[in-house]
Amino acid sequence: MPQVPHPKLTHQKLIILDRDGVINHDSPDFIKSPEEWVPIPGSLEAIARLNQAGYRVVVASNQSGIARQLFDITTLNAIHAKMHRLALQVGADIDAVFFCPHAAADNCDCRKPKPGMFAEISKRYKVSLKGVPTVGDSLRDLQAGFISGCVPYLVLTGKGEKTHVTGGLPPGTSVFPDLAATVQDILKQPAAIAVAN
Ligand SMILES: [Mg+2]
Ligand SMILES: [Zn+2]
Repeated sequence: MPQVPHPKLTHQKLIILDRDGVINHDSPDFIKSPEEWVPIPGSLEAIARLNQAGYRVVVASNQSGIARQLFDITTLNAIHAKMHRLALQVGADIDAVFFCPHAAADNCDCRKPKPGMFAEISKRYKVSLKGVPTVGDSLRDLQAGFISGCVPYLVLTGKGEKTHVTGGLPPGTSVFPDLAATVQDILKQPAAIAVAN
């Protein structure tokens, strides 16, 4: 076996998750407080299984509630502190949370379906996103991932049922009932290794 000097830099397994409707229950009224952030059963345990299999788990989330002034960054940080705390309780580690605070009218590059957050993740982790699984409940999650080279997974939690019925999913999208079932499938496959770009 050849020695690899910095295996974590060149061979890291990454997965990119949407937040609302994938990790936690979504709400048409937005998740505006830590109290409203409630995990979908089995989602945090699924993240722990990904970690055990060597995956770094990264969240990419549209949070236009900030632009709409429904909540501020301090509250968003408190929501994420709760997410990290509940995750740690089941041995799950969410490596980083990327979010877009803009509204659609802001025409930013980060709001999904734009690929800005995915590009930022690729840059931050120094990896190509080719073959990296991404999990979402909305079409725009899968579109942003797909154009970034990710392998899209649709979950039927959150807005997922509606997304599935509406159709028009990117080619190669797999559909599973929830994150736990998605992860079970991903961990059955040979790991897609993200390599430095
Ligand atoms: Mg969502
Ligand atoms: Zn944005």
